Amino acid sequence: MIQRTVAEQQRALYWHRRRLHEREVPRHLLRETDQLMFWLEECLVQRLKIVPGWLMPRLLVLLGQAHPELPRELGHERRPAQVMEFLYRAQEALMEQSVKGAGHGVPLPGAGSAHGAVGQGPQTGQDHPPLPLTLRVDLHLHSYYSPDSKTSFADLVARCREVGLDRIALTDHNTAAGAFELRRLHPGLAIAGEEIKTREGEVIGLFLAEQIKPWLHPEETLDRIHGQGGLTYLAHPCDRFRASFTPERIIELAPGVDIIETYNPWARPADNQLAAELCQELRKVAATGSDAHSPPELGLSWMEIEEYEGPADFLDKLRQARHVVTELSGTQRRA
Ligand SMILES: [Zn+2]
Repeated sequence: MIQRTVAEQQRALYWHRRRLHEREVPRHLLRETDQLMFWLEECLVQRLKIVPGWLMPRLLVLLGQAHPELPRELGHERRPAQVMEFLYRAQEALMEQSVKGAGHGVPLPGAGSAHGAVGQGPQTGQDHPPLPLTLRVDLHLHSYYSPDSKTSFADLVARCREVGLDRIALTDHNTAAGAFELRRLHPGLAIAGEEIKTREGEVIGLFLAEQIKPWLHPEETLDRIHGQGGLTYLAHPCDRFRASFTPERIIELAPGVDIIETYNPWARPADNQLAAELCQELRKVAATGSDAHSPPELGLSWMEIEEYEGPADFLDKLRQARHVVTELSGTQRRA
């Protein structure tokens, strides 16, 4: 059986995002056909006799958008292989339209902003290869487990649903207790993290199994994160107004660093730019984090990443991820 709960949840979020951020031009509809093709293939793999009901509404709409006659011709046909034939026909029709329309995609709002990684941000309007599901993630945010945030889990989860965040790394200050609890309550949503104060700057650990205590030498903090299979992430690394490392120290620490935050809404643009340059120079993976301390700050900047399996795969895919920074990012009042 197809795992309905997970599948339906992903599907709902997927369409939600599409409706919000992409106009339905042929190129985008083509991507939708890729997504639907994935599910139809899954039906064949699972040897389902008919296409599940939850898949049909969007499929019918898409067929109609590709060519008005297709839904009628499909009629009551629900056998996966046969339905797939219709999807192929829809793809052909859309490809034709796409060529006619000069094939310009509509970039996501804020995508490709200079805030993203230098040289590795999104190329707007460029198609991804046939669609693996993309997840909207935020890798740096806080809850009431941080002394400077009042955000409850209920508000956090509600806001994620509202803005279509699929996965969040809860990175409270010097504690992973909240992150572990959120992961227990919402395993599909939460990555367990912690923003750890070292004797110098702050270091985030992602995919943590155990909490890491603060005030260690940065090298030891990085080692401990890696020692438990986590990923190391330098938060607002060059921010002159918060505990952070000097560029020289970042270069020294580089062997132990996986990810560098190149956009933090609360860092000055020049500091973000410096972080982005360092990130590129050191060939590290860039990240955009919201550093949200209250719910309205969530969903103003995020990353879009392919579905992954485990931390190593996550890091690999983060390199290709799309950075999205909207105009509203950094305009909220800091909690
Ligand atoms: Zn933070």
